[in-house]
Amino acid sequence: MAKVVIIGAGGVGGVVTHKCSQLPEVFSEIVLASRTEDKCRAIAAQLSRPIETAQVDADNVPELTAFLQRQQPDLVINVALPYQDLHIMDACLAAGINYLDTANYEPLDTAKFEYSWQWAYQERFQQAGLMALLGSGFDPGATNVFTAYIAKHYFDEIHELDIIDVNGGDHGYPFATNFNPEINIREVTAECRHWENGGFVTTPAMSLKQSFTCPEAVGTYNIYRMYHEELESLVKHFPTLNKAQFWMSFSDNYLKHLEVLGNVGMTGIEPVQFQGQQIVPIQFLRALLPDPASLGPRTKGKTCIGCVVRGVKDGRQKIVYLYNIKDHQDCYAEVQSQAISYTTGVPAMIGAKMMLEGKWLKPGVWNLEQMDPDPFMADMNRYGLPWTVIEDYQL
Ligand code: NDP
Repeated sequence: MAKVVIIGAGGVGGVVTHKCSQLPEVFSEIVLASRTEDKCRAIAAQLSRPIETAQVDADNVPELTAFLQRQQPDLVINVALPYQDLHIMDACLAAGINYLDTANYEPLDTAKFEYSWQWAYQERFQQAGLMALLGSGFDPGATNVFTAYIAKHYFDEIHELDIIDVNGGDHGYPFATNFNPEINIREVTAECRHWENGGFVTTPAMSLKQSFTCPEAVGTYNIYRMYHEELESLVKHFPTLNKAQFWMSFSDNYLKHLEVLGNVGMTGIEPVQFQGQQIVPIQFLRALLPDPASLGPRTKGKTCIGCVVRGVKDGRQKIVYLYNIKDHQDCYAEVQSQAISYTTGVPAMIGAKMMLEGKWLKPGVWNLEQMDPDPFMADMNRYGLPWTVIEDYQL
């Protein structure tokens, strides 16, 4: 029996709140707080049990600290934006509350995502006897646990990792992003980095593509190599990895729109002067694009996200593929959301459950692959994200 404060009432916040509210034996009290309280109220109205809602600006650390001190939750689940991570961690430390998020910190003025800022909180969380669990979404999140699970159960040593994220869904809009457009576009337009022979190698964004056929007839898609934040923690915690890459599917249509928007300057993050005021192009673009939380009823098709790992077991080289497939419409029927928010929100709920049940609770700042993967994997099967392992996988 525990009390959680969920911060952020967007697409992911909606799913986390739904999933936590389905488990009153773990999440006995839920407070959903965000910058716009109306969005919290709209989510609360979809639930079958009452929760509390509140307005809070997570960038105002004293205000957030006072709010947490009043609420006294056991855990804060941060599903606001990556810009808020450090502020929410500061407030959790000040109020003495455990912390969980789904995306690593990004400064507003640089499209740069890395764990260094949050790992720097290690000693402070340890000394306070508090835990911060970083990146408990799907990727990062479930993909970190998949890697740990494969390493634990199928190999003596792992050597190569390919994380493959396919979204075979179609929302019918000419262009829309499946999660926060600003964060999504910053991620996709960033230079690619992959791990090879002890260091990160940088290549231009979207410069390497291949075709990938998903299992279970989900389809064949073009996947592009890009940087993704879990590579940083996974190569640190699995030092035997000599190659690690992240791949994501994009349609030609999505990439063409992005190219044109980039060419005309609409994806820029530097403020420009416009009719007497400063506007940030990507923030203006975000205001024009469909809200990801509104894509649920329109999106059809499936996601297929998983990890392909090469390594050795008993002296023999082998390849193991572990994946989850999720149907967008099934997600909508369950929690009124499409599968991208669903596949992020469920692992956030499970990570929180692991902490609140004491299975993963230890002071300090941790990535998911540093924990025992088994109870998390069992809960993935139980709470809507069943997975499959193919041993001796043929690419
Ligand atoms: P949305 O933009 O839909 O929602 C973000 C929410 O955070 C909004 O309700 C917003 O409020 C609120 N918010 C923003 N700033 C503040 C603030 N200062 N104080 C309080 N609330 C604030 O984003 P998503 O739901 O799509 O994504 C949420 C998080 O999940 C992001 O960090 C994203 O990177 C992460 N993510 C992780 C994935 C993974 O697999 N690990 C995959 C997808 C997303 P308002 O409504 O007022 O704007």
